[in-house]
This record gives sequence, C-alpha cells and structure tokens, in this order.
Amino acid sequence: MSNESADRAAALCTDYQMDTYARTATLVRGRGSRVFGPRGNQYLDFTSGISVLALGHAHPAVTEAIKTQAETIAHCSNLFFNETVGQLAEKLHKVGLGGKCFLCNSGAEANEAAIKLARLWGGANGGRFEIVCMENSFHGRTMATLSATGQRKVQQGYDPLLPGFRFAAFNDLESVRAAVTDKTAAVMLECVQGEGGVVPATEEFVRGVRALCDEKGVLMICDEIQCGMGRTGTLWAFESYGVKPDAFTAAKALGGGLPLGALVASPALSSVFTPGSHGSTFGGNPVACAASLAVFDAFDKEKTLENVARQSALMRRGLEGLVEKYPQLLEVRGKGLLLGLVLKEPRAGELLDELRAGGLLACKAGPSVVRFLPPLNVSDADMEEALEMIADSLDALFGE
Ligand SMILES: *Cc1c(COP(=O)(O)O)cnc(C)c1O
Repeated sequence: MSNESADRAAALCTDYQMDTYARTATLVRGRGSRVFGPRGNQYLDFTSGISVLALGHAHPAVTEAIKTQAETIAHCSNLFFNETVGQLAEKLHKVGLGGKCFLCNSGAEANEAAIKLARLWGGANGGRFEIVCMENSFHGRTMATLSATGQRKVQQGYDPLLPGFRFAAFNDLESVRAAVTDKTAAVMLECVQGEGGVVPATEEFVRGVRALCDEKGVLMICDEIQCGMGRTGTLWAFESYGVKPDAFTAAKALGGGLPLGALVASPALSSVFTPGSHGSTFGGNPVACAASLAVFDAFDKEKTLENVARQSALMRRGLEGLVEKYPQLLEVRGKGLLLGLVLKEPRAGELLDELRAGGLLACKAGPSVVRFLPPLNVSDADMEEALEMIADSLDALFGE
C-alpha cells in the first residue's frame, strides 16, 4: 500500500467517525507482537489493543477457531442453545467461581450486568441498592458504568448521573468502611487499577474488603476486565490476593480479539437473574466464544502464565534501571504485564510520541503514566528490543 492509503484511512476515519479518540497511526496488519503500517513500517505492539490481544495478533489457533466457527454458525441468538457457547460457560464455571455466567459483548456491558445483578440481589435482601466504588476506578462508558467510575473526566457533561454509587479511597479500608451503609448492596473494585494509573491494590486492602463485605453481608465484585485473563500473572488478579469475590467481570482479552464480556458469579448469585430479567442480542456470540475457548486452550498448552512471570521480571528490572538513570522518572508500578512507568511531570504523551517514532506502541494511564501492555506470550527478544527502544526514547526526551 502507498502513502496515499495511509492518509486515506486517517481521512475516512476522521471525516466519518465521531471525534472521540486521539488516534496516532494507521495499522493494516498484525502478527504476534508486531503490527505493520501502510508503508510497510512496523511497530512492536505493547498496547495489545488495550489488553485485548493476550496472545498477540493473529495467533494461529485463535484465527483457526474463528474461521471454523464462522463457517459453521456465526450467530444464532440467545433464543437457541449452542454447544460452543455452552463450552465457554462451562470453562468459566471451572476457572471462575464454580457458578454460572452471563455473556455479553464488552466490558461496560459486563459491569452493567454486575450492577443490575447487585441491585436485584440487594432489592431482595433488605432493600439494598448502593454500590461502593473506588476513586480513580474505571468501569466503562455507559451511563451506569460511568456513574460507577471514580474519575470526573469520564462523567463530565453527562449529569445527572445514575444515583446509588458511593466512592471510597482506593487502598484505604477505613474509607470503604465509612462508605458502606445499610443500603449497600456491593463493593466493586479493580485489584489493579488500569486506566486509573496502573495502581495495584495492597494485599491488606483486598483482604480487608473481603472481610468487610462478609461482616456486613455485602457483595464483593471484582472488575477483572483489564487485570484479568492472565494479565497480572494469575488468571484472575484476585487469585494473587488469596480472596474470592462473589462475582467478577471479564472482557478485553476474554474474546481473543473479538468482542466478548462475561459476568461470572458464585453459585449463590447464579440464580438472581431469571428469564426476562436481563439479556443481549449478540451476547455470547458463538464466534467470540470459539475464539475465547482457543485462548484458554493456548494459555494451558503454551504455559502463558509462566511467560508472564518471566517477562514481567525482565521488564520490571529493565524499567527500574531506567528509573535510576533518569531523575525525570518516579517509579515503576503494576503487576505482571500491566506495568506503568511513572513520570514526575505530566509528559506521558510526549514519551509515547517518542516511543512510537522509535517503533514501540504503548498506552497512557493518565497524564504522567506510560502503560505497557505487551502480549502475554511476548518473547525474550521482543522484550529486550522494547526495553532498548524505551531507553532510546528516554534518551531522546531527557538526555543531554
Ligand atoms: C476497558 C475497561 C472497561 C470497559 O470495557 P469496554 O469493553 O471498553 O466497555 C471496564 N473496566 C475496566 C477495568 C477496563 O479496563
């Protein structure tokens, strides 16, 4: 493809899509950890489609599963049973909380389902409807999920917000305790906040929230949309804290690149929804479910979680060396392969531009944090190359 087609992609998207994203490059094709632009230019992709492509681009088993299912039956609606869909539900039962799931298409929808479930459950258990959420959390862009999000910038202009959400300071158990009332149905949190700046919860906090929820008879709901699916080193982030929530939500990497979300519940919450109380036309689409099954399968076959531990250690060590070298850097934060390089000043955007110019794609998590989300099967060689690119970019930005 030519220069013109690069400009054409940008022109078409800019002219005909609403202006909701600050987009930077045109991508045509992806393979593994790499993506290619229209001029044959290539990047190492440490965004993984914002934590969606756990196995990188075009993983052969995922692609094959998508093709086969698309040729068999691509959609049948939830008016009918389908075995691929059922197999994914069984998988989520086994690797989840031993209960049932509700399948949908995105993270926001999974959290919507969690909020609705908490309200149905709370209504039947003492008229409880409030949900305690965390400051700096991110739960999505629908009206309910942005109302649950602890970031004013996401809510700006959309008042009145949905009532019934109270906020507590993340990693401050007393603040959660103070926010819980006799109207509280659930406490909802990310064990590692992603969009909110790559901030892991402390072990005392997550365990404390679990104990508090038990004490008060309140549900604990984990948003595993970004930190789950192996991203932080265990299949679900809550596992590394030694607790089990009453329900959790998954999306992003769940569908192997296709739109898929899930609300996964404990047995006690698996019959709160009844026929007609919730639904979705596309939710649990067989092609997305087939892709998801292929991802879980590859995690086992390729020992993906072991690679997360290995690459996380490599990346953390590399980034920490850079923090020592550059006084403009504050620290490395995160868990597994959800790592944030924190700058002392709000210059994450400048660093991202520099990285992209050098051939590495990464994300932001607020104005001062560059967030790295490499594929979970990234190789040693690609990790080393990325660390060199980061070093070069810091040198270009901060070196004398
Ligand atoms: C991305 C994200 C969501 C929203 O997911 P969408 O698929 O964009 O609706 C919700 N919660 C967390 C923690 C996320 O990272």
